[in-house]
Formats: sequence, structure tokens, C-alpha cells
Amino acid sequence: MKKKVAVLGATGSIGKSAIDVLRDQKDRLQPVLLTAHSDAKGLLELKKEFPGVLTSLVDEAAAEGARFDFSGRDGLLSAIAAAKADIAVNGISGAAGLEPSVAAINAGSDLALANKETIVMAAEVIFALAAEKHIHIIPVDSEHSALFKLIEAHGRDNVSVIILTASGGPFKEYSPEALSRVTPREALAHPTWNMGPKITVDSATLANKGLEVIEAAGLFGFPPEKIKIAIHPQSVVHSMIRLKDGAVYAQMSKPDMRLPIHEALFWPETIYSPFGVLDFASLSLTFEKPDLEKFPMLALAYQALSGGQCLSIAYNAANEIAVEAFLKGKINFLEIPRIVGYVVGNSASGANLESIDAILAADRAARKMAEDFIGSK
Ligand code: NAD
Ligand code: MG
Repeated sequence: MKKKVAVLGATGSIGKSAIDVLRDQKDRLQPVLLTAHSDAKGLLELKKEFPGVLTSLVDEAAAEGARFDFSGRDGLLSAIAAAKADIAVNGISGAAGLEPSVAAINAGSDLALANKETIVMAAEVIFALAAEKHIHIIPVDSEHSALFKLIEAHGRDNVSVIILTASGGPFKEYSPEALSRVTPREALAHPTWNMGPKITVDSATLANKGLEVIEAAGLFGFPPEKIKIAIHPQSVVHSMIRLKDGAVYAQMSKPDMRLPIHEALFWPETIYSPFGVLDFASLSLTFEKPDLEKFPMLALAYQALSGGQCLSIAYNAANEIAVEAFLKGKINFLEIPRIVGYVVGNSASGANLESIDAILAADRAARKMAEDFIGSK
């Protein structure tokens, strides 16, 4: 029997990679739901390519006239419930991906999770719900996909430290002065990965790695001091684990998101994929220490992680607002960490939040604080 797959955010960078995996595995994977925010044209093309698939477009104005099965934000959640996929790839960008993750788990679908915000904001609630519904969460973010497989192979109890690799972004060698003059256009050109705009800017500020440190803590339960970062510009080693005896194991593959998506869709099986074999004759791998002073988003992520869930929510929410303001030309590149630092520094730490509603309220409060801070300058 074919596995029924939902792709949430099917028109985005992760979504397109997921569609490629579906095209490659027609005999084993059956798309049952494809969703998008406002790209009606892109979604209609996919609907034509996969007859019978359910479709859902959030933007009601863009959906008008075009025949989608669901529209609006509530429509997206109803679509996920109706599709009852075996597995849902969540490639929605930002905090907007949290409720769709919850809807997928409630529908009994395993989660192939690219949307790191789901874990950054709500790891405990999500894992409790996943346990209740007997579903699996398989990370798709390349570093976490690597760590998931490495930890599975070597045993969680044997792992001493996890080491996330980071490309370092396009501005690794820039002076602080040069960083202040970075334009949105420059920030949107990533050296090794081709991704959506938000995560591309995050890769340039290293907020993406900051979010991934928090994501790794939520997924694998390691404390901040056992989560390390190694700058590795070639993006071939996707992450590493160090065992208690000192041995280090690395996961390597081409930097192509179709690989972790393929792995997640077939987990716990391992089957052949056509997406690239490494050519060691042309590889030269290097590793460096991250510069936490030049890239304060890293230090802020550790601060947020140590301060508890509310600060992780604040870090993510403030960063989303700051990146949007940067892309609109309202603030310069170096103001992104200033805004996030202000919001993390002024948010209450405190106990973990026990419901999605409380988490969404904390997210809204942090967004407002970031917007007020930008507005007051
Ligand atoms: P993207 O901007 O290219 O695509 C986002 C997709 O989500 C689009 O299909 C869009 O229509 C949909 N979407 C956007 N806002 C929405 C909303 N409010 N409601 C419903 N749907 C909405 O983003 P991306 O680069 O594919 O990233 C998606 C997620 O995957 C992010 O959480 C990102 O951190 C994570 N991720 C991406 C990559 C990558 O290579 N692109 C790698 C690792 C992790
Ligand atoms: Mg990643």
C-alpha cells in the first residue's frame, strides 16, 4: 500500500523538494494534500500534476475563483484533519507552522518536520501530544535529520555532546562596519543552500543556527552546554555526535534537502535515493569556531535556551518581526540582534507553558514588544 503524504507549504523551498521526492517515488508515495499560503498559480499546477489530491490555500482573496478544496486559515487546519495522511511534511515557514503541526498530530499523521519553530516554541506540548496520539516526529532540518539518525544508530545514552554544523553564512569574514551596510539583496544570496527568504536571512545573522540549537535541545533533550556549533562552510557534514568515549561520528551527504525529506518519508526504512552521491575526489572539508561576538544571535539563543521556553518563544518571535523589518528596508542588518536582545532581555522567563493557546499568547506578546521597540526608534 502506498504511504499517504500531505505537504504543508508545498510551493516553498522545502515543499518543492518534497514534491520532487513524491515524483521520484510514485509507486510508494501518494500525495493526499498540498497546501500553500498565497501562490494560487503554483498550487493549481500541482493540483493538475497530482489528480485527486486535496488542496488548501490560506489567502482567501487569492483562492477566489480558483477551485481549491479548502481556503483560509481554518480551512488549512480542516484540510489537514480531512486528509488523514500517514505522514505530513511541514514546510511552512515561521510560527505559522505550529498549529498545522498540532492539526497533523491530531489527525494521526506522523510529522516529517522542517518547520523548526514547532519545536522551538512548543517541544514539550508537541511531544506529549505525539505520545498520546502514537505518532512519530522525524526531523527534516538537515542537522537534526543527521543527529536523529546518528543518535538512533549509536544510542542516546552513549552520546556526550552533539555538534551542529553551520555554513557560517555569506558574511563570515565581514567587519562589523561592513555588516551594518548589508542589504536585503546581499543577505538573500546564500553560498550553499537555496531556501526561502526568512531562513536565508537567518543563515546570514546565524539566527538559523540559534534556532537550531534550541530545536536540538527540544528534539533530543540535551542541555545547552552539551550542544556545540562548528562552522563548516562546505555544508557536507550535516552534524556530529561525540560519544562518552571521545569518538566522533559525522553524517555526510550533498547539501540537498531532498535527502533528509526522502529519509523522513521512508523512516525507519532506508531505501535508495537518486539525490546525490558524494564525490570525495573533489571534497575539502574545513571546520572553524563560531564568532559569538560578531554574530550575537548565537549567544542570544543560548541565553534564551537557558532561560526557559518563554525566552525561546520571544527569541523566535522577535527575530521574525526584525527580519521582516529588515527585508522591508526599515532597519539595518545589525539592528536585528539588537531587537531580539531587547525582547529576550525584557521577557519574563518563568515556568513552561502547558497549552498551545498560552504559547501563541506568549508569541503575540513578544511580537508586540518587538514592534513597539522598532516603532519607538
Ligand atoms: P519558504 O518561504 O520557501 O516556503 C514556505 C511555505 O509555507 C510556502 O509554501 C508558503 O506558501 C507557506 N506559508 C507561508 N506562510 C504561511 C502561513 N502563514 N500559513 C500557511 N502556509 C504558509 O520557506 P522554506 O525555506 O521552505 O522554509 C520552511 C520551513 O522549513 C521553515 O521553518 C524553515 O526554517 C525550515 N527549513 C527550511 C530549509 C530549506 O532548505 N529551505 C532547511 C531546513 C529547515
Ligand atoms: Mg538546518
